[in-house]
Amino acid sequence: MSAGATEVTGAVAVVRDFVNTSDHDEGTDELDSTAGLTAWLTTTGLAGESAEATEAELDLALRLRAGLRRGLELNHDGGAGPLPGLVDVLAELPVVLGWDGTAPVLTTGENGVLGGLARVAVCAHETVATGEWGRLKICSFDECEWAYVDRSKNRSRHYCEYGCGNKLKTRAYRARQRAASAQL
Ligand SMILES: [Zn+2]
Repeated sequence: MSAGATEVTGAVAVVRDFVNTSDHDEGTDELDSTAGLTAWLTTTGLAGESAEATEAELDLALRLRAGLRRGLELNHDGGAGPLPGLVDVLAELPVVLGWDGTAPVLTTGENGVLGGLARVAVCAHETVATGEWGRLKICSFDECEWAYVDRSKNRSRHYCEYGCGNKLKTRAYRARQRAASAQL
């Protein structure tokens, strides 16, 4: 799977793509090293080109990702709950209030890795303002767990855009076929 396969752009896409740096389906992780984190933040433009991640920053990034993923799971389940891990990591990010010329905005004054991670968190906050936060979910298919944006009218989608609902049906169908043939 490749990130950004749908038309989703902007802050909501940044959050989705950050969570999807871990691909459960393919067993890959773009943030498996400090070099991987540096590459992701600089190619997305969230951090400046001179940024270079340390082990401590990688740890922070992984905790941020885990916390956001948990938040997306809560969105999916229509629930709410305390996320102490996410609270801790958000408190460590260099986010400040600024002025964009027309309105107060959350921003970061840093351009390194911490600034890049702060921008991911600011994007998550922006999705709250645009009403898209609740649409960010984790695919229900256990072999997928892809973060996706539920664009359905009543936010009722349970699976990502890669047809996982159908894959699940196919698997259930095959299981029934196997059970039926075992009884023969
Ligand atoms: Zn899926």
